[in-house]
Amino acid sequence: MENILKHNFSAGPSILPPEVLEGARHAIGNWQDQGLSILEVSHRTPEFRKVVDEVEELLRELMNIPSGYSILFIQGGASTQFSMIPFNFMGRTGKAAYLDAGFFSKRAIVEASHFGLVDVVASSADSNYTFIPSDYKVDPSCSYFHCTSNNTIEGSQMHSFPSSPVPLICDMSSDILSRTIDISQFDLIYAGAQKNMGPAGVTVVIVKDDLLNNINNKVPAMWDYRIFRECHSLYNTPPVFSLYVMLLNLRWIKKQGGVKEMESRNKIKADILYKEIDSNPLFQNAIVKEDRSLMNVSFSINKSELENAFYEFAQKEGMVGLRAPFGNSFRASLYNALPISSVQALVNTMKEFTISMDFQTSLNTCYL
Ligand SMILES: *Cc1c(COP(=O)(O)O)cnc(C)c1O
Repeated sequence: MENILKHNFSAGPSILPPEVLEGARHAIGNWQDQGLSILEVSHRTPEFRKVVDEVEELLRELMNIPSGYSILFIQGGASTQFSMIPFNFMGRTGKAAYLDAGFFSKRAIVEASHFGLVDVVASSADSNYTFIPSDYKVDPSCSYFHCTSNNTIEGSQMHSFPSSPVPLICDMSSDILSRTIDISQFDLIYAGAQKNMGPAGVTVVIVKDDLLNNINNKVPAMWDYRIFRECHSLYNTPPVFSLYVMLLNLRWIKKQGGVKEMESRNKIKADILYKEIDSNPLFQNAIVKEDRSLMNVSFSINKSELENAFYEFAQKEGMVGLRAPFGNSFRASLYNALPISSVQALVNTMKEFTISMDFQTSLNTCYL
């Protein structure tokens, strides 16, 4: 098996374990010795049906999903869920509650506003989303309450979930399978696979059957959760290859010791990195400490003129995916497949960079 070539801190699509990539490579060649590539196999074959069944079984086992919940595989990314959710569920009251704690929750709010009234219960937008609001009330006359468990762009994370008088819906795109959660608190959980579950192309929806049974509005087939449930996610052609690679990744997680083991590794990784950010005078993190994310660690450099220099320095050390899209200068995503050694390498790079900068400052002083 190949060793990783780069330290991949990308926020998504993200790093996958080498043995998952190896399995995917093999399946592209001759899947299950059928003389066909996984890319050529019909989704209507019993062999592929088995793939979907095993993905579902493994998710149930790894996440401890009780009966009374259905697991659906949908395309269109988490972003499609931003409109699919209000399309299906807002009709009952014409109103839904949303917590605004980051870039993606804002997007969810904008999409929901096309379907009815959005009651934003609290927002940290005015503080550049540096914390997750915790002081708010959800109006019981809303159809549901939507929150985002981990703010991928900003690097903040909900470490506990509110009790809600209405169905609780959560976007877990960037921290699903990273920590143990109590599914029974939620009525619907969704996540695009490409952050912590597999490659891009498939979105997982875990939904309480009661919630689906109460839909009374008409929804076109491809937007209707009930169609996906009735057809076992095979109403139309599903993302066959993405589902297969997700299966390989779920098997990998199980083999490693499950979500508990992922959680303890993720804590170790985040601790190592935050410790360096907090103790190195060159770097800082803007998120309120108790809301810091264990998955996406954002940081900036105190002397902004050194931003490019650090980025290039880190690139030379084989680090990719560190540049943040906007706002913070850097972001290291520490998803399940990222080894602890990559985080140690990043910390060493930060230390070496700081020393080299100190050295340059003293050189400049000599020449004055
Ligand atoms: C990445 C991400 C999205 C968008 O996902 P797509 O699959 O690209 O549509 C939504 N929410 C969160 C929290 C994300 O991290």
